[in-house]
Amino acid sequence: MNHSNFLVVGSGLAGLSFALRAAELGEVTVITKKALMDSNSSLAQGGIAAVLGADDSFENHIDDTIRVGKGLCDRRAVELLVRRGPELIGWLMGLGVEFDRMGDVLDLGKEGGHSRRRVAHSGDLTGSAVQEVMVQRVKESPAIEIREKVVAVDLVVHEGSCRGIRALDVERSRLVNFQAPVTVLATGGVGQLYAKTSNPAVATGDGVAMAWWAGAELADMEFTQFHPTVLNVGTSPFFLISETVRGEGGILRNNSEEAFMKGIHRLGDLAPRDIVSRAMVEEQKRGQVYLDVRHKGEPFLRRRFPTIYQRCAEEGYSMVRDLIPVSPAAHYLCGGIKVNEYGETSIPGLLAFGECSCTGIHGANRMASNSMLECLVFTSLAFEKIRPHEGSVDLSPMEREVQIVDTPEAHVLRSHLQDVMWDSTGINRSVAGLKQVIVELREIEERAESLLSRGMNTDLIELHSMVAVARLITRAALTRRESRGTHYLADHPRRDDENWLKHIVFKGNRIKVEDHRT
Ligand SMILES: Cc1cc2nc3c(=O)[nH]c(=O)nc-3n(C[C@H](O)[C@H](O)[C@H](O)COP(=O)(O)OP(=O)(O)OC[C@H]3O[C@@H](n4cnc5c(N)ncnc54)[C@H](O)[C@@H]3O)c2cc1C
Repeated sequence: MNHSNFLVVGSGLAGLSFALRAAELGEVTVITKKALMDSNSSLAQGGIAAVLGADDSFENHIDDTIRVGKGLCDRRAVELLVRRGPELIGWLMGLGVEFDRMGDVLDLGKEGGHSRRRVAHSGDLTGSAVQEVMVQRVKESPAIEIREKVVAVDLVVHEGSCRGIRALDVERSRLVNFQAPVTVLATGGVGQLYAKTSNPAVATGDGVAMAWWAGAELADMEFTQFHPTVLNVGTSPFFLISETVRGEGGILRNNSEEAFMKGIHRLGDLAPRDIVSRAMVEEQKRGQVYLDVRHKGEPFLRRRFPTIYQRCAEEGYSMVRDLIPVSPAAHYLCGGIKVNEYGETSIPGLLAFGECSCTGIHGANRMASNSMLECLVFTSLAFEKIRPHEGSVDLSPMEREVQIVDTPEAHVLRSHLQDVMWDSTGINRSVAGLKQVIVELREIEERAESLLSRGMNTDLIELHSMVAVARLITRAALTRRESRGTHYLADHPRRDDENWLKHIVFKGNRIKVEDHRT
Protein backbone atom coordinates (compact mmCIF):
# COMPACT_ATOMS: atom_id res chain seq x y z
CA MET A 1 0.00 0.00 0.00
CA ASN A 2 1.68 3.22 -1.14
CA HIS A 3 -1.20 5.40 -0.10
CA SER A 4 -2.41 5.95 3.45
CA ASN A 5 -3.97 8.62 5.64
CA PHE A 6 -0.74 9.13 7.56
CA LEU A 7 2.79 8.50 6.37
CA VAL A 8 5.40 8.33 9.14
CA VAL A 9 9.11 8.39 8.32
CA GLY A 10 11.11 6.92 11.21
CA SER A 11 10.48 4.24 13.81
CA GLY A 12 11.93 5.81 16.96
CA LEU A 13 9.83 6.94 19.89
CA ALA A 14 8.45 9.97 18.01
CA GLY A 15 7.44 8.04 14.90
CA LEU A 16 5.92 5.09 16.73
CA SER A 17 4.04 7.14 19.30
CA PHE A 18 2.54 9.24 16.50
CA ALA A 19 1.69 6.06 14.54
CA LEU A 20 -0.08 4.51 17.52
CA ARG A 21 -2.17 7.63 18.04
CA ALA A 22 -2.93 8.14 14.35
CA ALA A 23 -4.01 4.49 13.96
CA GLU A 24 -7.14 5.49 15.88
CA LEU A 25 -7.99 7.89 13.04
CA GLY A 26 -7.00 6.12 9.85
CA GLU A 27 -4.49 4.02 7.96
CA VAL A 28 -0.84 4.61 8.80
CA THR A 29 2.31 3.62 6.93
CA VAL A 30 5.59 3.66 8.87
CA ILE A 31 8.73 3.54 6.78
CA THR A 32 12.12 3.09 8.36
CA LYS A 33 15.64 2.99 7.01
CA LYS A 34 16.78 -0.27 8.55
CA ALA A 35 14.97 -2.40 11.15
CA LEU A 36 12.28 -1.00 13.46
CA MET A 37 14.60 -0.96 16.48
CA ASP A 38 17.47 0.91 14.74
CA SER A 39 17.17 4.33 16.33
CA ASN A 40 18.51 6.70 18.96
CA SER A 41 15.43 5.87 21.02
CA SER A 42 16.47 2.24 21.45
CA LEU A 43 19.82 3.34 22.88
CA ALA A 44 18.52 5.73 25.54
CA GLN A 45 19.76 4.73 28.93
CA GLY A 46 18.99 7.31 31.60
CA GLY A 47 15.23 7.61 31.21
CA ILE A 48 12.39 10.08 30.86
CA ALA A 49 12.06 13.23 32.96
CA ALA A 50 8.70 14.08 34.54
CA VAL A 51 7.43 15.61 37.76
CA LEU A 52 6.68 12.47 39.73
CA GLY A 53 8.47 12.93 43.08
CA ALA A 54 6.83 14.27 46.24
CA ASP A 55 9.49 17.00 46.58
CA ASP A 56 9.13 18.16 42.96
CA SER A 57 6.85 20.64 41.17
CA PHE A 58 6.07 21.73 37.61
CA GLU A 59 7.73 25.07 38.38
CA ASN A 60 10.98 23.29 39.35
CA HIS A 61 11.10 21.27 36.13
CA ILE A 62 10.21 24.34 34.02
CA ASP A 63 12.85 26.47 35.76
CA ASP A 64 15.56 23.80 35.39
CA THR A 65 14.82 23.34 31.67
CA ILE A 66 14.86 27.07 31.00
CA ARG A 67 18.06 27.60 32.99
CA VAL A 68 19.87 24.87 31.02
CA GLY A 69 18.50 26.29 27.72
CA LYS A 70 20.45 29.53 28.34
CA GLY A 71 17.81 32.14 27.54
CA LEU A 72 16.49 30.65 24.29
CA CYS A 73 13.79 28.20 25.41
CA ASP A 74 10.23 28.83 24.32
CA ARG A 75 8.57 29.10 27.73
CA ARG A 76 5.14 28.12 26.44
CA ALA A 77 6.50 24.94 24.83
CA VAL A 78 8.42 24.09 28.02
CA GLU A 79 5.27 24.50 30.10
CA LEU A 80 3.35 22.18 27.76
CA LEU A 81 6.19 19.66 27.97
CA VAL A 82 6.43 19.66 31.73
CA ARG A 83 2.73 19.75 32.61
CA ARG A 84 2.00 16.80 30.31
CA GLY A 85 4.93 14.75 31.64
CA PRO A 86 3.24 12.66 34.37
CA GLU A 87 0.28 11.83 32.10
CA LEU A 88 2.59 10.58 29.34
CA ILE A 89 4.59 8.39 31.72
CA GLY A 90 1.20 6.95 32.71
CA TRP A 91 0.37 6.41 29.00
CA LEU A 92 3.58 4.43 28.52
CA MET A 93 2.86 2.34 31.61
CA GLY A 94 -0.63 1.70 30.24
CA LEU A 95 0.97 0.37 27.04
CA GLY A 96 3.06 -2.01 29.14
CA VAL A 97 6.34 -0.21 29.85
CA GLU A 98 7.74 -1.19 33.24
CA PHE A 99 9.74 1.45 35.06
CA ASP A 100 11.88 0.62 38.10
CA ARG A 101 10.07 0.98 41.40
CA MET A 102 10.95 1.44 45.03
CA GLY A 103 7.99 -0.07 46.82
CA ASP A 104 4.83 1.68 45.67
CA VAL A 105 6.52 4.58 43.93
CA LEU A 106 8.75 4.95 40.87
CA ASP A 107 12.48 4.87 41.53
CA LEU A 108 13.50 8.25 40.10
CA GLY A 109 17.01 8.97 38.82
CA LYS A 110 18.83 12.31 38.85
CA GLU A 111 20.71 13.77 35.91
CA GLY A 112 22.66 16.87 34.97
CA GLY A 113 20.78 20.18 35.27
CA HIS A 114 17.87 18.67 37.25
CA SER A 115 17.41 20.06 40.76
CA ARG A 116 15.29 17.05 41.79
CA ARG A 117 15.11 13.32 41.21
CA ARG A 118 12.65 13.05 38.34
CA VAL A 119 13.91 10.53 35.76
CA ALA A 120 11.71 7.45 35.31
CA HIS A 121 13.86 4.58 34.07
CA SER A 122 13.99 0.86 33.34
CA GLY A 123 17.39 -0.11 34.73
CA ASP A 124 19.94 1.52 32.45
CA LEU A 125 18.18 0.38 29.28
CA THR A 126 15.12 2.63 29.30
CA GLY A 127 15.17 3.24 25.55
CA SER A 128 15.05 -0.39 24.51
CA ALA A 129 12.48 -1.19 27.21
CA VAL A 130 10.21 1.55 25.82
CA GLN A 131 10.92 0.75 22.16
CA GLU A 132 10.22 -2.96 22.57
CA VAL A 133 6.77 -2.18 23.93
CA MET A 134 6.09 0.44 21.23
CA VAL A 135 7.18 -1.93 18.46
CA GLN A 136 4.96 -4.65 19.88
CA ARG A 137 1.93 -2.36 20.03
CA VAL A 138 2.55 -1.04 16.50
CA LYS A 139 2.84 -4.60 15.16
CA GLU A 140 -0.46 -5.49 16.83
CA SER A 141 -2.31 -2.61 15.19
CA PRO A 142 -4.23 -3.63 12.06
CA ALA A 143 -4.23 0.01 10.89
CA ILE A 144 -0.41 0.28 10.74
CA GLU A 145 1.69 -1.00 7.87
CA ILE A 146 5.43 -1.23 8.53
CA ARG A 147 7.99 -0.94 5.74
CA GLU A 148 11.56 -1.65 6.85
CA LYS A 149 14.68 -1.02 4.73
CA VAL A 150 13.00 1.84 2.92
CA VAL A 151 15.03 5.06 2.85
CA ALA A 152 13.24 8.37 2.36
CA VAL A 153 15.05 10.45 -0.24
CA ASP A 154 12.98 13.62 -0.50
CA LEU A 155 9.55 15.11 0.04
CA VAL A 156 6.96 15.45 -2.68
CA VAL A 157 5.49 18.94 -2.53
CA HIS A 158 2.61 19.80 -4.85
CA GLU A 159 1.01 23.25 -5.03
CA GLY A 160 2.74 24.22 -1.79
CA SER A 161 1.57 21.21 0.24
CA CYS A 162 3.42 18.07 1.16
CA ARG A 163 1.83 15.02 -0.48
CA GLY A 164 4.27 12.32 0.54
CA ILE A 165 7.83 11.21 -0.10
CA ARG A 166 10.08 9.54 -2.61
CA ALA A 167 11.99 6.65 -1.13
CA LEU A 168 14.45 3.93 -2.04
CA ASP A 169 13.08 0.46 -1.39
CA VAL A 170 16.48 -1.11 -0.81
CA GLU A 171 15.54 -4.75 -1.22
CA ARG A 172 13.59 -4.19 -4.45
CA SER A 173 16.02 -1.61 -5.89
CA ARG A 174 13.10 0.65 -6.68
CA LEU A 175 12.41 4.30 -6.16
CA VAL A 176 8.87 4.48 -4.78
CA ASN A 177 6.39 7.29 -4.17
CA PHE A 178 4.50 7.05 -0.89
CA GLN A 179 1.45 9.30 -0.81
CA ALA A 180 -0.44 10.70 2.15
CA PRO A 181 -2.27 13.91 2.98
CA VAL A 182 -0.28 14.00 6.23
CA THR A 183 3.44 13.20 6.15
CA VAL A 184 5.38 13.00 9.41
CA LEU A 185 9.14 13.35 9.67
CA ALA A 186 10.44 11.56 12.76
CA THR A 187 13.91 10.82 11.46
CA GLY A 188 15.90 11.59 14.61
CA GLY A 189 19.31 13.17 15.05
CA VAL A 190 22.55 14.00 13.28
CA GLY A 191 25.25 12.46 15.47
CA GLN A 192 26.81 10.68 12.49
CA LEU A 193 28.01 14.05 11.20
CA TYR A 194 30.79 13.83 13.78
CA ALA A 195 33.79 11.52 14.11
CA LYS A 196 32.83 10.73 17.70
CA THR A 197 29.18 10.10 18.44
CA SER A 198 26.84 8.10 20.63
CA ASN A 199 24.30 7.92 17.79
CA PRO A 200 23.79 4.84 15.61
CA ALA A 201 24.60 4.71 11.88
CA VAL A 202 21.05 5.78 10.90
CA ALA A 203 21.39 9.23 12.55
CA THR A 204 22.44 11.18 9.46
CA GLY A 205 19.97 14.08 9.53
CA ASP A 206 17.96 12.94 6.48
CA GLY A 207 14.64 14.41 7.62
CA VAL A 208 16.20 17.79 8.37
CA ALA A 209 17.81 17.86 4.93
CA MET A 210 14.59 16.78 3.20
CA ALA A 211 12.58 19.48 4.97
CA TRP A 212 15.17 22.10 4.08
CA TRP A 213 15.29 21.07 0.40
CA ALA A 214 11.49 21.38 0.33
CA GLY A 215 11.65 24.91 1.75
CA ALA A 216 10.51 24.28 5.35
CA GLU A 217 11.85 26.57 8.06
CA LEU A 218 14.62 25.23 10.33
CA ALA A 219 15.81 26.84 13.56
CA ASP A 220 18.61 26.68 16.16
CA MET A 221 20.81 24.42 14.02
CA GLU A 222 24.02 25.70 15.65
CA PHE A 223 23.11 24.00 18.92
CA THR A 224 24.51 20.49 18.60
CA GLN A 225 24.95 18.90 22.01
CA PHE A 226 27.96 16.84 22.98
CA HIS A 227 27.58 14.26 25.72
CA PRO A 228 30.53 14.34 28.10
CA THR A 229 30.91 10.62 28.62
CA VAL A 230 31.15 7.88 26.06
CA LEU A 231 33.39 4.90 26.75
CA ASN A 232 36.54 5.97 24.93
CA VAL A 233 37.49 2.64 23.39
CA GLY A 234 36.86 1.21 19.91
CA THR A 235 35.27 3.11 17.05
CA SER A 236 32.19 5.25 16.50
CA PRO A 237 29.39 4.94 17.50
CA PHE A 238 30.79 4.94 21.01
CA PHE A 239 29.01 3.35 23.92
CA LEU A 240 27.32 5.97 26.10
CA ILE A 241 27.97 6.13 29.82
CA SER A 242 24.76 7.71 31.04
CA GLU A 243 24.78 10.95 33.00
CA THR A 244 22.99 9.08 35.79
CA VAL A 245 26.37 7.52 36.60
CA ARG A 246 27.54 10.99 37.60
CA GLY A 247 24.08 11.62 39.08
CA GLU A 248 24.74 8.69 41.40
CA GLY A 249 28.13 10.06 42.45
CA GLY A 250 30.54 9.31 39.58
CA ILE A 251 33.53 11.68 39.48
CA LEU A 252 35.47 12.88 36.43
CA ARG A 253 39.24 12.75 36.93
CA ASN A 254 42.09 13.98 34.75
CA ASN A 255 45.29 12.19 33.91
CA SER A 256 46.67 13.08 37.37
CA GLU A 257 43.48 11.67 38.96
CA GLU A 258 42.32 15.15 40.07
CA ALA A 259 38.55 15.77 40.25
CA PHE A 260 38.77 18.79 37.93
CA MET A 261 35.07 19.74 37.66
CA LYS A 262 34.93 20.95 41.29
CA GLY A 263 36.77 24.15 40.48
CA ILE A 264 34.86 24.84 37.27
CA HIS A 265 31.15 24.90 38.16
CA ARG A 266 29.12 24.91 41.36
CA LEU A 267 27.33 21.73 40.22
CA GLY A 268 30.72 20.05 39.73
CA ASP A 269 30.43 16.82 37.73
CA LEU A 270 26.72 17.49 37.13
CA ALA A 271 27.24 20.89 35.51
CA PRO A 272 25.41 21.34 32.16
CA ARG A 273 26.80 19.16 29.38
CA ASP A 274 28.42 21.95 27.37
CA ILE A 275 30.47 23.07 30.35
CA VAL A 276 31.55 19.53 31.26
CA SER A 277 32.41 18.69 27.62
CA ARG A 278 34.55 21.79 27.16
CA ALA A 279 36.39 21.19 30.43
CA MET A 280 37.08 17.63 29.29
CA VAL A 281 38.45 18.77 25.93
CA GLU A 282 40.88 21.02 27.82
CA GLU A 283 41.93 18.12 30.03
CA GLN A 284 42.27 15.81 27.01
CA LYS A 285 45.04 18.08 25.74
CA ARG A 286 47.05 16.79 28.71
CA GLY A 287 45.96 13.16 28.56
CA GLN A 288 43.08 10.76 29.03
CA VAL A 289 40.05 11.72 31.15
CA TYR A 290 38.42 9.11 33.38
CA LEU A 291 35.19 8.43 35.20
CA ASP A 292 35.60 7.14 38.73
CA VAL A 293 32.81 5.16 40.40
CA ARG A 294 34.95 2.76 42.38
CA HIS A 295 33.64 4.15 45.69
CA LYS A 296 30.06 3.11 44.87
CA GLY A 297 30.83 -0.57 45.36
CA GLU A 298 30.01 -3.63 43.33
CA PRO A 299 26.47 -4.46 44.56
CA PHE A 300 25.17 -0.96 43.79
CA LEU A 301 26.92 -0.67 40.44
CA ARG A 302 25.76 -4.08 39.23
CA ARG A 303 22.18 -3.40 40.30
CA ARG A 304 21.85 0.20 39.10
CA PHE A 305 23.96 0.03 35.92
CA PRO A 306 23.91 -3.60 34.76
CA THR A 307 24.42 -2.83 31.08
CA ILE A 308 27.16 -0.25 31.56
CA TYR A 309 28.88 -2.55 34.07
CA GLN A 310 28.77 -5.42 31.60
CA ARG A 311 29.94 -3.35 28.63
CA CYS A 312 32.89 -1.90 30.57
CA ALA A 313 33.85 -5.43 31.62
CA GLU A 314 33.70 -6.61 28.00
CA GLU A 315 36.15 -3.85 27.10
CA GLY A 316 38.48 -4.90 29.95
CA TYR A 317 37.47 -2.30 32.57
CA SER A 318 36.03 -3.05 36.01
CA MET A 319 33.82 -0.23 37.35
CA VAL A 320 34.76 -1.43 40.83
CA ARG A 321 38.55 -1.41 40.41
CA ASP A 322 39.42 0.74 37.39
CA LEU A 323 39.13 4.30 36.24
CA ILE A 324 36.97 4.22 33.09
CA PRO A 325 38.39 6.12 30.05
CA VAL A 326 35.77 8.55 28.72
CA SER A 327 35.42 11.25 26.07
CA PRO A 328 32.77 13.69 24.91
CA ALA A 329 30.91 12.76 21.72
CA ALA A 330 28.20 14.27 19.51
CA HIS A 331 24.88 13.32 21.02
CA TYR A 332 21.86 15.47 20.26
CA LEU A 333 20.55 18.15 17.88
CA CYS A 334 18.70 20.82 19.88
CA GLY A 335 17.46 22.62 16.75
CA GLY A 336 15.82 21.21 13.64
CA ILE A 337 12.64 21.57 11.61
CA LYS A 338 10.70 24.45 13.11
CA VAL A 339 7.31 23.33 14.41
CA ASN A 340 4.48 24.60 16.57
CA GLU A 341 3.01 22.67 19.51
CA TYR A 342 1.12 20.37 17.12
CA GLY A 343 4.23 19.44 15.16
CA GLU A 344 3.13 21.56 12.20
CA THR A 345 5.98 22.79 10.00
CA SER A 346 5.85 25.77 7.65
CA ILE A 347 4.72 23.41 4.83
CA PRO A 348 1.04 22.36 4.94
CA GLY A 349 0.66 18.59 5.21
CA LEU A 350 4.11 18.15 6.76
CA LEU A 351 4.55 17.47 10.48
CA ALA A 352 7.78 16.81 12.39
CA PHE A 353 8.34 15.31 15.82
CA GLY A 354 11.19 14.25 18.07
CA GLU A 355 14.83 15.03 17.59
CA CYS A 356 14.53 16.23 13.97
CA SER A 357 12.04 18.90 15.07
CA CYS A 358 12.61 22.17 16.88
CA THR A 359 9.75 22.78 19.32
CA GLY A 360 11.75 25.39 21.24
CA ILE A 361 11.94 23.40 24.47
CA HIS A 362 15.71 22.97 24.41
CA GLY A 363 16.82 26.49 23.52
CA ALA A 364 20.61 26.54 23.37
CA ASN A 365 21.08 23.32 25.34
CA ARG A 366 18.96 20.26 26.08
CA MET A 367 18.46 19.15 29.65
CA ALA A 368 19.06 15.43 30.05
CA SER A 369 16.01 13.14 29.68
CA ASN A 370 13.75 15.86 28.29
CA SER A 371 14.02 14.55 24.72
CA MET A 372 12.08 11.31 25.03
CA LEU A 373 9.42 13.29 26.87
CA GLU A 374 9.37 15.75 23.96
CA CYS A 375 8.64 12.87 21.52
CA LEU A 376 5.70 11.78 23.66
CA VAL A 377 4.19 15.15 24.53
CA PHE A 378 4.13 16.78 21.11
CA THR A 379 2.78 13.70 19.30
CA SER A 380 0.00 13.53 21.88
CA LEU A 381 -0.80 17.24 21.44
CA ALA A 382 -0.93 16.78 17.66
CA PHE A 383 -3.38 13.94 18.10
CA GLU A 384 -5.76 16.32 19.82
CA LYS A 385 -5.83 18.56 16.77
CA ILE A 386 -5.34 16.29 13.82
CA ARG A 387 -8.18 14.82 11.82
CA PRO A 388 -7.92 12.26 9.02
CA HIS A 389 -7.78 13.96 5.66
CA GLU A 390 -9.39 12.48 2.65
CA GLY A 391 -7.96 12.28 -0.83
CA SER A 392 -4.58 13.10 -2.27
CA VAL A 393 -3.09 13.81 -5.65
CA ASP A 394 -1.90 11.05 -7.87
CA LEU A 395 1.85 11.14 -8.00
CA SER A 396 2.83 9.30 -11.09
CA PRO A 397 4.86 7.34 -11.84
CA MET A 398 4.46 5.43 -8.57
CA GLU A 399 7.66 3.42 -8.91
CA ARG A 400 10.68 3.04 -11.07
CA GLU A 401 13.74 0.88 -11.03
CA VAL A 402 17.01 2.53 -10.07
CA GLN A 403 20.60 1.62 -10.67
CA ILE A 404 22.07 0.52 -7.32
CA VAL A 405 25.78 1.32 -7.48
CA ASP A 406 28.71 0.25 -5.35
CA THR A 407 30.50 3.36 -4.05
CA PRO A 408 33.41 2.68 -1.68
CA GLU A 409 34.35 6.36 -2.07
CA ALA A 410 31.16 7.33 -0.20
CA HIS A 411 32.68 5.85 2.99
CA VAL A 412 35.87 7.83 2.54
CA LEU A 413 33.89 11.04 2.01
CA ARG A 414 31.69 10.29 5.05
CA SER A 415 34.74 9.81 7.30
CA HIS A 416 36.31 12.98 5.95
CA LEU A 417 33.12 14.96 6.64
CA GLN A 418 32.96 13.50 10.17
CA ASP A 419 36.58 14.51 10.88
CA VAL A 420 36.11 18.01 9.51
CA MET A 421 32.95 18.55 11.57
CA TRP A 422 34.50 17.11 14.74
CA ASP A 423 37.61 19.27 14.43
CA SER A 424 35.99 22.59 13.54
CA THR A 425 32.19 22.60 13.99
CA GLY A 426 32.43 20.63 17.23
CA ILE A 427 32.86 21.50 20.90
CA ASN A 428 35.27 24.39 20.24
CA ARG A 429 34.55 26.55 17.20
CA SER A 430 36.30 29.52 15.61
CA VAL A 431 35.34 31.80 12.75
CA ALA A 432 38.37 30.77 10.67
CA GLY A 433 37.77 27.08 11.35
CA LEU A 434 34.09 27.31 10.41
CA LYS A 435 34.91 29.13 7.15
CA GLN A 436 37.33 26.36 6.25
CA VAL A 437 34.61 23.75 6.95
CA ILE A 438 32.36 25.45 4.38
CA VAL A 439 35.13 25.13 1.78
CA GLU A 440 35.74 21.46 2.58
CA LEU A 441 32.02 20.66 2.51
CA ARG A 442 31.74 22.15 -0.95
CA GLU A 443 34.42 19.75 -2.20
CA ILE A 444 32.72 16.76 -0.52
CA GLU A 445 29.40 17.78 -2.03
CA GLU A 446 30.84 17.98 -5.54
CA ARG A 447 32.23 14.45 -5.21
CA ALA A 448 28.94 13.16 -3.74
CA GLU A 449 26.93 14.69 -6.57
CA SER A 450 29.17 13.17 -9.17
CA LEU A 451 28.68 9.73 -7.54
CA LEU A 452 24.91 10.28 -7.34
CA SER A 453 24.74 11.04 -11.04
CA ARG A 454 25.79 7.41 -11.69
CA GLY A 455 23.14 5.73 -9.52
CA MET A 456 21.94 5.39 -5.99
CA ASN A 457 22.46 3.55 -2.72
CA THR A 458 21.80 4.21 0.99
CA ASP A 459 25.35 5.50 1.58
CA LEU A 460 24.94 8.15 -1.09
CA ILE A 461 21.50 9.23 0.12
CA GLU A 462 22.96 9.63 3.60
CA LEU A 463 26.05 11.44 2.39
CA HIS A 464 23.87 13.88 0.45
CA SER A 465 21.86 14.64 3.62
CA MET A 466 24.95 14.83 5.79
CA VAL A 467 26.63 17.45 3.60
CA ALA A 468 23.47 19.57 3.55
CA VAL A 469 22.97 19.41 7.32
CA ALA A 470 26.67 19.91 8.06
CA ARG A 471 26.56 23.07 6.02
CA LEU A 472 23.44 24.33 7.83
CA ILE A 473 25.03 23.73 11.25
CA THR A 474 28.24 25.42 10.17
CA ARG A 475 26.48 28.42 8.60
CA ALA A 476 24.35 28.88 11.71
CA ALA A 477 27.46 28.61 13.89
CA LEU A 478 29.21 31.23 11.77
CA THR A 479 26.23 33.56 12.07
CA ARG A 480 25.98 33.44 15.88
CA ARG A 481 28.85 35.68 16.97
CA GLU A 482 28.74 34.81 20.68
CA SER A 483 28.99 31.70 22.87
CA ARG A 484 25.85 30.24 24.38
CA GLY A 485 24.82 26.76 25.49
CA THR A 486 26.28 24.11 23.23
CA HIS A 487 27.68 26.70 20.80
CA TYR A 488 31.15 27.90 21.79
CA LEU A 489 32.94 30.33 19.50
CA ALA A 490 36.50 31.02 20.66
CA ASP A 491 36.52 34.45 18.93
CA HIS A 492 33.46 35.49 20.99
CA PRO A 493 33.72 33.42 24.18
CA ARG A 494 30.98 35.24 26.13
CA ARG A 495 27.22 35.10 26.09
CA ASP A 496 25.87 38.33 24.63
CA ASP A 497 22.23 38.86 25.60
CA GLU A 498 22.21 42.38 24.27
CA ASN A 499 22.72 41.26 20.68
CA TRP A 500 22.01 37.55 20.58
CA LEU A 501 18.74 36.73 22.32
CA LYS A 502 17.80 35.59 18.85
CA HIS A 503 17.14 32.50 16.76
CA ILE A 504 18.83 31.72 13.49
CA VAL A 505 16.19 30.47 11.06
CA PHE A 506 16.77 28.96 7.62
CA LYS A 507 14.22 29.10 4.86
CA GLY A 508 15.77 27.76 1.70
CA ASN A 509 19.04 29.57 1.23
CA ARG A 510 17.95 32.57 3.24
CA ILE A 511 19.05 33.02 6.85
CA LYS A 512 16.78 35.09 9.09
CA VAL A 513 17.87 36.23 12.53
CA GLU A 514 14.68 36.45 14.58
CA ASP A 515 14.19 37.98 18.02
CA HIS A 516 13.53 35.52 20.81
CA ARG A 517 10.08 35.98 22.28
CA THR A 518 9.78 35.23 25.97
C1 LIG B 1 23.01 6.62 23.49
C2 LIG B 1 21.87 7.57 23.70
C3 LIG B 1 21.30 7.71 24.96
C4 LIG B 1 20.22 8.59 25.16
N1 LIG B 1 19.65 8.65 26.40
C5 LIG B 1 18.53 9.42 26.56
C6 LIG B 1 17.82 9.41 27.79
O1 LIG B 1 18.16 8.70 28.71
N2 LIG B 1 16.70 10.19 27.88
C7 LIG B 1 16.26 10.98 26.85
O2 LIG B 1 15.25 11.68 27.00
N3 LIG B 1 16.93 11.00 25.68
C8 LIG B 1 18.03 10.23 25.50
N4 LIG B 1 18.68 10.23 24.30
C9 LIG B 1 18.12 11.02 23.21
C10 LIG B 1 16.85 10.34 22.71
O3 LIG B 1 17.04 8.95 22.68
C11 LIG B 1 16.46 10.80 21.34
O4 LIG B 1 16.52 12.18 21.23
C12 LIG B 1 15.04 10.38 21.00
O5 LIG B 1 14.84 9.04 21.33
C13 LIG B 1 14.82 10.63 19.54
O6 LIG B 1 13.69 9.94 19.11
P1 LIG B 1 13.22 10.14 17.62
O7 LIG B 1 12.06 9.23 17.46
O8 LIG B 1 13.08 11.55 17.33
O9 LIG B 1 14.46 9.61 16.74
P2 LIG B 1 15.13 8.18 16.66
O10 LIG B 1 14.79 7.36 17.82
O11 LIG B 1 16.55 8.35 16.35
O12 LIG B 1 14.42 7.53 15.39
C14 LIG B 1 14.67 8.01 14.08
C15 LIG B 1 14.15 6.99 13.10
O13 LIG B 1 14.17 7.52 11.77
C16 LIG B 1 14.70 6.56 10.89
N5 LIG B 1 15.22 7.27 9.72
C17 LIG B 1 16.19 8.22 9.68
N6 LIG B 1 16.36 8.64 8.41
C18 LIG B 1 15.49 7.95 7.64
C19 LIG B 1 15.21 7.91 6.25
N7 LIG B 1 15.87 8.67 5.36
N8 LIG B 1 14.26 7.06 5.80
C20 LIG B 1 13.59 6.25 6.66
N9 LIG B 1 13.82 6.23 7.98
C21 LIG B 1 14.76 7.08 8.47
C22 LIG B 1 15.74 5.86 11.72
O14 LIG B 1 16.12 4.64 11.14
C23 LIG B 1 14.98 5.72 13.04
O15 LIG B 1 14.09 4.64 12.96
C24 LIG B 1 19.74 9.36 24.08
C25 LIG B 1 20.32 9.23 22.82
C26 LIG B 1 21.37 8.34 22.62
C27 LIG B 1 21.97 8.22 21.26
